[in-house]
Amino acid sequence: MGDLLGVTVTPVQPYAARKDYLCPGCQNTIPPGTFHLVVVPDDEPDLRRHWHHGCWHKEMRRRFGVDQASRR
Ligand SMILES: [Zn+2]
Repeated sequence: MGDLLGVTVTPVQPYAARKDYLCPGCQNTIPPGTFHLVVVPDDEPDLRRHWHHGCWHKEMRRRFGVDQASRR
């Protein structure tokens, strides 16, 4: 996916997900073996976070209004 709106989003395949992560979208655990996303702000690489796929898409709509942008 690469650069989008100042963040870099990288998919993590199930075989590469070997630890529990806390999703900041729903505050629930992402168990090992779950496809999910790593989101890194371009200007703050230390703030990388692991998100459920669905939670990130909701967050993107909430934060950036991506759906509206695509209609212009
Ligand atoms: Zn989540």
